[in-house]
Amino acid sequence: MPYKDPEKRRENSRKYREDNKEEISRKRKEYVEKNKEKLDTYTKEYNASSSGKIVRANYTATHKEENKLYREKNKEKIKKQQHENYLKNREAVIKRTTKYHQEHREERKQWYSKYYQDIRLKVLARVDPNMKCAMCGCDDTRFLEVNHIKGGGNKEVQERRKESHTTSSNMILLIHTGKRDVKDLNLLCRACNSIDHLERVYGKTGLKVVWDKETTK
Ligand SMILES: [Zn+2]
Repeated sequence: MPYKDPEKRRENSRKYREDNKEEISRKRKEYVEKNKEKLDTYTKEYNASSSGKIVRANYTATHKEENKLYREKNKEKIKKQQHENYLKNREAVIKRTTKYHQEHREERKQWYSKYYQDIRLKVLARVDPNMKCAMCGCDDTRFLEVNHIKGGGNKEVQERRKESHTTSSNMILLIHTGKRDVKDLNLLCRACNSIDHLERVYGKTGLKVVWDKETTK
């Protein structure tokens, strides 16, 4: 007999759930196992639907701190999961990534340009924490370049290109990714770097860069 009083009905079903906890859990698991495909389709459909998107966006917006903490705490686990997922769905992932890159070309370009500027400054600071040209003292980071103190920069680039066509020979990227140390490097402004190059080829040139900081203010 169903209860007429809704309060009583609720109370009763609560009690039933409490008493049959394990049984309910077992049945649910069984159901999920049996209907895996159907449920997966439901989930996919829901996630792609507008209400799914709204719920997800809402969750993301209200759980920013928690998400960040979780990602930091489970860095390795997430990395492993992502890699496993990639191996499992390799073709689809490549297709999706390619499509994304094609559709977001401008944004990607802007993002990468900002990323490169950031790591460039970090690398310059690693080569010389003062971030100054070793010859003229210029500290305008726009003009600074990484220089091989004893020369051989071009040779290193050529050798790296010969070794591998896929790895970059860009010094900023190499240093940033830890593939190149900074022991034999310093910073030169572009002008001093040119003179350095000329003198390696022709000997003393008599050229000298004077950097007058006052005029740049
Ligand atoms: Zn200079």
